[in-house]
Amino acid sequence: MIITKPKAKEAVLSMLEGYDKIFVLGCNSCAETIGTGGPEQVAEMSEFLAGSGKTVTGTAVIDPICHVLGAKRALREQGEAVSEADAVVVMSCGAGVQTVSEALEQAAFPALDSVFLGNVIRHGIYDERCSLCGECVLDVTGGVCPVTRCAKGLLNGPCGGMSEGKCEVDPDQDCAWALIYERLAKSGRTEKMAATMKPKDHSLHRKPVKISNR
Ligand code: SF4
Ligand code: SF4
Repeated sequence: MIITKPKAKEAVLSMLEGYDKIFVLGCNSCAETIGTGGPEQVAEMSEFLAGSGKTVTGTAVIDPICHVLGAKRALREQGEAVSEADAVVVMSCGAGVQTVSEALEQAAFPALDSVFLGNVIRHGIYDERCSLCGECVLDVTGGVCPVTRCAKGLLNGPCGGMSEGKCEVDPDQDCAWALIYERLAKSGRTEKMAATMKPKDHSLHRKPVKISNR
């Protein structure tokens, strides 16, 4: 799930300087699930903008904004509420904002900051577990990602700073490599620790990445 956090409402207002008629759009996928861009947050933003002197031409929460064709269709279905707007405030991750920017002539403004790909530990608590590196090594690390969960992203650890299973960079965090050892030990695979992992080939993951299965 893409974890987003709200920008300050005043910052959103400042982006909208010179724009009077605003459409507010939320995303019924990740942003709705974590409570940053669902119906409730869209209604709050709409109320705030109206109270700040803007005309809100309409609101919608679509599912999901990053689905380019689906989002274009959903925006067309909004009719005049969208066409009359000077600008759209988008309460989704940056991928969704860019979909709207491509789909419409009007300017699209982000109301959220996209932070990371996260696991939902419980409502309101999210942990980063995968950095989308493009070459997954979880098969040899006991299902614990060293790229993301080691503060130094070490593919061969632990570093010399690990102390009693904790990370030297943040002693409140478990050392990822201590976790890797524990997981491998549970499944009788500690010999995997003896192998040296090769550096990743970052040329395979040059941005922007495109995948076409057609
Ligand atoms: S190694 Fe880590 S960052 Fe790379 S794909 Fe696997 S879980 Fe994600
Ligand atoms: S202590 Fe462990 S998690 Fe922290 S930087 Fe060193 S190897 Fe990585």
